Amino acid sequence: MGRAGWDDEYDVVVAGSGAGAMAGALAAASGGLRTAVLEKTGLLGGTSAYSGSAIWLPGTRVQERAGLGDSTEGARTYLRALLGDDEEERREAFLETAPELVDFLEKDSAIEFRFQAFPDYFDAPGRLDMGRSFVPLELPAEELGELAALVRPPVDRDRAGRGHSASKPLAQGRALIGRLLLAINATGAGGIRTRTALTDLIVEDGRVTGVAARTADGPVRLRARRGVLLAAGGFESSTALRAERGVPGGAGWTMAPDGANTGDAIEAAVRIGASTGLLDQAWFCPGLLTPDGRPAFTLGFRGGLIVDASGRRFANESLPYDRMGRRMAAAEGPFHLIWDSRADGLPAISVPPLRTDEQLASGAWVQAGTLPELAEMTGLPADALTGTVERFNGFAARGADEDFHRGEDAYDLYFSGGRPCVVPVDRPPYLAARVVLSDLGTKGGLRTDADARVLDGSGRPLPGLYAAGNTSASFTGPVYPGPGVPIGSAMAFAYRAVQDIRR
Ligand code: FAD
Repeated sequence: MGRAGWDDEYDVVVAGSGAGAMAGALAAASGGLRTAVLEKTGLLGGTSAYSGSAIWLPGTRVQERAGLGDSTEGARTYLRALLGDDEEERREAFLETAPELVDFLEKDSAIEFRFQAFPDYFDAPGRLDMGRSFVPLELPAEELGELAALVRPPVDRDRAGRGHSASKPLAQGRALIGRLLLAINATGAGGIRTRTALTDLIVEDGRVTGVAARTADGPVRLRARRGVLLAAGGFESSTALRAERGVPGGAGWTMAPDGANTGDAIEAAVRIGASTGLLDQAWFCPGLLTPDGRPAFTLGFRGGLIVDASGRRFANESLPYDRMGRRMAAAEGPFHLIWDSRADGLPAISVPPLRTDEQLASGAWVQAGTLPELAEMTGLPADALTGTVERFNGFAARGADEDFHRGEDAYDLYFSGGRPCVVPVDRPPYLAARVVLSDLGTKGGLRTDADARVLDGSGRPLPGLYAAGNTSASFTGPVYPGPGVPIGSAMAFAYRAVQDIRR
């Protein structure tokens, strides 16, 4: 143990290893600051590694290269239309930082992005129908070498305890985390410490000067000479905290890696006087229950319909997933997706991908020759279900969803490939799958300012302490503006935290 009881000394200690944490660590280490990344589990990347890695950072060189005509001003118009004047300071900080952050990241030879069409989630001024988000280029595992084994694999392989596929490059969130890891490693100033869980913050003379952490070899105290960045996810996997704060859904139904994000960093900061906000909020989504009771994030419904406990529809099934999740939170479950053999497999995208034969064999999905039989198998009222499907088929015949306007928005049509999304359900066998209110993580947490400084109850920064990603209360409030906002905002505020640390 070193001076003053420290086991090790760094300039910056980052808790967590999602996209925000890794971007912050790269910014610090590339500027010559000795930086530690602490990761509670044995694998890096958290939910960010599971993600599609769409990144919503507007007005950058990536959109310019793609000839999108995106601009900071256009994104400002869009965000202002959705969020009003709330959070103007953090919104402006985010917009101002986006182009600079992408310049910084792409300057590194390990990192490159490309535009990927994915519409913004609201029909509001400033929206781009093809969206403005981008993704990292895939990463051949050979480029990472032994480091590849440190990156959390895709959700299905991870849940099965398997590593990356030997025959495929790292894609999506794995590519993002892998590329950031390569870049951090190349600085020579970044240290990655897995199986190291932050437990407490150490305060000396009113300033956060380090962290206490749990490791396999016992507790350690790590000094952070310049600052501590908390980017250790939300509390989506804590049943107790979700219940206390009234987050709809459930810890068993979140898409986050099992047991990873239990609010440790938020709780540690609260114990030293940090304030919190938006605690009942999450990035919601529908999830299809899989045989082991865990959900598959499901989006882009291009067929079928979803009914509530009464056997009736309650929303436009093709809504952007967070908006659909919020409709589910206000309706009464259990919910079921109903479709038929007209669809070639599941009429939606699911992560992980689900195969009809496997789901039917496991009993997670059921099928029947008639709707009353399907109702019997799912416990739905037969008359209501039959009536709902007949009404829906009438809408399909007339080409208009008179109840929920499905298929009228650019987002709906993007996923149906421009074809009608109100497709008749009339070709037996009929299928049913249980849909639950899932989430991609909670989005309430520590209150922060435009430089990601954690604020106390009087709105004053707690010296030495920063937060980003789902550890902080999102500047978007209860709104999910477009694909890639969780990761884009996590990276932007982590980057701003490090700029402040370096001043
Ligand atoms: P995480 O990425 O979950 O990272 C938190 C890390 O902190 C974890 O590794 C965890 O183990 C670690 N940790 C927790 N406690 C401690 C502790 N005490 N000490 C040290 N470490 C700790 N968002 C987008 O923006 N674009 C997308 O395309 C997108 N697609 C998605 C697709 C899927 C299938 C899923 C599941 C999510 C998707 N999301 C997407 C959402 C997004 O991935 C998350 O909201 C975001 O990555 C959260 O980032 P984070 O850094 O806050 O948390």
